[in-house]
Amino acid sequence: CVATGRPQYRNNGTFSGYIGSCVDITEQKNLQQQKDDFIGIASHELKTPVTSIKAYTQVLERMLLKKGETKEAGMISRMDGQLNRLTSLIGDLLDVTKINSGKLQFNDRDFEFNDLVKELVEDLQRTTEKHKLIEKFFPTGVVFGDKERIGQVITNLITNAIKYSPHADKIIIHTGVKNNEVSLCIEDFGIGIEEDKLNKVFEQFYRVSGDMQHTFPGLGLGLYISSEIIKREGGRIWVTSKHGEGSTFCFALPLKTKTKALRSDYIG
Ligand code: ADP
Repeated sequence: CVATGRPQYRNNGTFSGYIGSCVDITEQKNLQQQKDDFIGIASHELKTPVTSIKAYTQVLERMLLKKGETKEAGMISRMDGQLNRLTSLIGDLLDVTKINSGKLQFNDRDFEFNDLVKELVEDLQRTTEKHKLIEKFFPTGVVFGDKERIGQVITNLITNAIKYSPHADKIIIHTGVKNNEVSLCIEDFGIGIEEDKLNKVFEQFYRVSGDMQHTFPGLGLGLYISSEIIKREGGRIWVTSKHGEGSTFCFALPLKTKTKALRSDYIG
């Protein structure tokens, strides 16, 4: 039951009692639980066949390449690319179920922040021919956290920057340290976000509505998962944006050890 109440006063200002109401939300909670359970089961069931198809396509591609049938191998490779997208969508759904049930696992350890960013930028540069991913790195340091999960956030932010800036030719990745926090900002020159939508983009299933929705596919989960991961790691995540000009998504995490170099003239 969700209770709300207000104190009541007589004309002479003395307290006379409370008037309150109590709304039974058992039904609502059950529905939410059923929805979470369904998403969990469905995504789990989808994962197994997709993993199996992926294994077959990889074998097929190797066989075709061996035979010199490059055109067919290219088609299989594109299929593999789409399967990667599908795997990542299913992964997002599974993560959301885990977050909602408090079961998202973290394996925290020390890692060098800039090394992780560098590695991911290299991988993601291969996914876009249009955009040059420009590294503006300042020395960071060691972070204590789940490297894979934090990597997932960085990948999400860079993938979004690529997706939502179809006419731009660059994306700038800034890293630095300030006030014992390591920060990363991804600056794009894409479609941007209207001011009144800015605080909503981190909500579960939220997508900026409009014609754009068809142009840019997605489930509206990446930023929600990213913000949950960063919060869990004791950090913060935020965005600044100008509609039609571009967005800058940033996050900051507590630094494990003090670094000598604290030069970061970008990140405020
Ligand atoms: P998805 O991209 O799958 O829709 P996200 O949770 O990653 O889900 O993003 C939520 C919404 O925030 C997107 O639908 C989009 O409208 C907006 N958004 C995210 N990143 C950017 C960006 N770099 N530029 C403009 N809009 C963005």
